[in-house]
Amino acid sequence: MPTAGEQEFTKLLRDRHVRVTPNRLTVFRAMQKSSEPLTVPELAALVEESGLNTATLYRIMETFTELQITHPVLQDHQNVAYELREPFARHHDHLVCRQCGKTFDLYDCRLEAALESISDEQGFHIDFHQMELHGLCPSCQKSTPHP
Ligand SMILES: [Zn+2]
Ligand SMILES: [Zn+2]
Repeated sequence: MPTAGEQEFTKLLRDRHVRVTPNRLTVFRAMQKSSEPLTVPELAALVEESGLNTATLYRIMETFTELQITHPVLQDHQNVAYELREPFARHHDHLVCRQCGKTFDLYDCRLEAALESISDEQGFHIDFHQMELHGLCPSCQKSTPHP
């Protein structure tokens, strides 16, 4: 039985006249299982059995991002990870540690409310936002002397 997310995924692809291929389904399932944003090499390791190469994975991520199934999460100036976005995952922002590279999910309604009211003041309607806040996580702060 496909999960609710898979049904939604299949429907979205069909509505946009994009074929539901076994490769696309494999990648979607791997992303659903992951609790963290995934880079293409990380994704490649997860779906190794299916023999998907990174070139194919980059193309799939491009398609998914275009279709608004995933969005890119900027980890640093050269690393981009991907994760599912609404309706496949609940909206959240991220804290990214520059030392250990971990990404922490940030679900904070105060932040969301502040963004709403700031954009309202500007008469601007936000369709989508996603933030990465960069710095040091609690455990890396302990092991790194402060400048
Ligand atoms: Zn947010
Ligand atoms: Zn850290």
